[in-house]
Amino acid sequence: MSQEKLITAENIANRKNFLEFSEVDVEILGQIHRYLEHNEAIVDSFTDSFYRHVFSFPELKMMLPDEASIDRLKKIQSRYFFRLTAGDYGEDYVSDRLKVGYAHQKVGLEPKWYTGAYRKYLSSLLPILHEIFGDDSTKLIAAYDAILKVVFFDMDLALDTYFHSGMRKLLRLANYDSLTGLPNRNLFYDRLAQEIKKAQRDGSSLVLLLIDLDQFKEVNDTLGHPSGDLLLVESARRIRKCVRDADTVARLGGDEFIIILPELHMHTHVERIAQNIIQVLSKPYQLDNDTVHISASIGITVYPEDAQDIASLLKHVDQAMYAAKAEGRNRFGYFTQSMQQEAMEKQELTNDLRQALARNELHVYYQPILELKSGSITKAEALLRWKHPTRGMVSPAIFIPLAEESGIIHEIGDWVFQQAVVCVVDWQKRLGRIIQVSVNNSPIQFEYPERQGWQKQMKELGVPGNRINVEITEGLLFKKSAKTMERLLDFRNSGIEVSIDDFGTGFSSLAYLKQFDIDYLKIDRSFIKDLEKNADDRALTEAIIVMAHKLGIRTIAEGVETEVQRDLLKSCDCDFVQGFLYSPAVPAVEFERMIAGKQPI
Ligand code: C2E
Ligand code: MG
Ligand code: MG
Repeated sequence: MSQEKLITAENIANRKNFLEFSEVDVEILGQIHRYLEHNEAIVDSFTDSFYRHVFSFPELKMMLPDEASIDRLKKIQSRYFFRLTAGDYGEDYVSDRLKVGYAHQKVGLEPKWYTGAYRKYLSSLLPILHEIFGDDSTKLIAAYDAILKVVFFDMDLALDTYFHSGMRKLLRLANYDSLTGLPNRNLFYDRLAQEIKKAQRDGSSLVLLLIDLDQFKEVNDTLGHPSGDLLLVESARRIRKCVRDADTVARLGGDEFIIILPELHMHTHVERIAQNIIQVLSKPYQLDNDTVHISASIGITVYPEDAQDIASLLKHVDQAMYAAKAEGRNRFGYFTQSMQQEAMEKQELTNDLRQALARNELHVYYQPILELKSGSITKAEALLRWKHPTRGMVSPAIFIPLAEESGIIHEIGDWVFQQAVVCVVDWQKRLGRIIQVSVNNSPIQFEYPERQGWQKQMKELGVPGNRINVEITEGLLFKKSAKTMERLLDFRNSGIEVSIDDFGTGFSSLAYLKQFDIDYLKIDRSFIKDLEKNADDRALTEAIIVMAHKLGIRTIAEGVETEVQRDLLKSCDCDFVQGFLYSPAVPAVEFERMIAGKQPI
């Protein structure tokens, strides 16, 4: 920011006007100046005494450098004060004053430096004024007045530099990330626009690298935000060291960094940089008392080959980064047209999903859950099915993530719950069977607990809380967010039971389970699958069951497909089983037939 722009000639005139700083004053100051010119030692002695004064303050003395530099500073200061009476107070003068002000700030001098120095100057000058004008008191007072005006004019400018530096700080705040000091999203957009223009002009290429830290969320969730911040600062430093000064490294937010490599780069060169970044980021991080290892995934896109505008380039580099993540993380990958195709299909499917409920394409199926001891169906899991008009059955593994990303999950989730409650009431009324239905709850649904009036609906229909079981994932507990706790407590208070779904695939911390008062553990299918062949899986399954029981938690084995698996689970004292051995998820009418005993299991 240029100081000249902020203080115009008009502004200078206004300041002088306000101080009644006139030509008469300038004339008087000229008289004083001529005297000083013949007695230069006076100004020097003033400077010396000022520095002596400054040296008596340890905190100021600390800022002053070696003797030679102090001599230089003294000379500058003498010249500075000499100019006070020199008679020219125009734009050059102002610009010089501001420059000196900025330089002083750079070494850390506060405004008190100025007030102190001007005071010393005035006090030293008084006897001189008396010497020049002492015989004529009117002239003496006018001279006092003129010198006061120029000192205040000057001090005003000096203090202004502090104000300007505040503006600079604001400007910095608007363009740089305060944590890592890297350019932020704002400045990144500006730089990218500039680089694209330049590349267009020169007919050259530029490359974007989007870096995402793979395990940042886990570090943040488990070690806390201060450790997360340290990790980001250190990652930023490491990334910065992998590129040249002319390359922009910006933080887009969270754990996402982006690099602009301007000018033509050979692909091998780009790949070397990407590989280098992956390598330096995978080195251990010392965060206070913890040593942490993470990896990074990098997406790469090239202008103008992949896209010509900023929005498309960013979309592409994002797709490339996600593809690298999906391929197993800790790697880089270029954007390809098939990613674009995939992204478009995803968008299309999401749009269809938005209409699916209204078009009656969604159905809730029920998969029986049996009590192992008695062999009877006491529970069922509600599982969503989507009959797409052209694609046929779409797997929930595909559309649930889309529903989560787009927020459609809230509406769909509420609907599944309603269907489940209606069935629970219906089965008891018509068939006299008490069945507890499990409803899957995605972590996203926990983000807005106030949206779900589930307990209220159950009350209105007269359904006791324990007829519904909510399945959540382990990751949710790790976050320990106030909202999650509030919602889990809400469930608990209304008697709704809670299961941990897919147990064993995440952090699998039994301590958390105790803390959150969980009712059931659903042991993931991956353990059950090889139960017959794999002794480790058998040992793990047995250990999970034993420990769960110790904590008062019941267990449900998922994906039971064979009688051998069932028998092994029985011998381990597992409480419930669910799987194709008994039945896949089926429409409500079919499930009814099973529990009415008309269809053998
Ligand atoms: P999940 O909650 O773990 O559900 C169990 C999945 O395992 C179901 O897959 C079920 O059909 C399948 N399964 C059950 N028994 C067997 C078996 O013996 N062998 C094999 N190979 N698979 C078995 P599905 O229905 O495809 O659901 C996939 C996932 O989609 C569910 O996993 C759940 O996380 C999610 N999901 C389904 N419906 C909903 C819903 O209404 N809301 C939410 N948020 N997620 C849902
Ligand atoms: Mg489930
Ligand atoms: Mg499961």
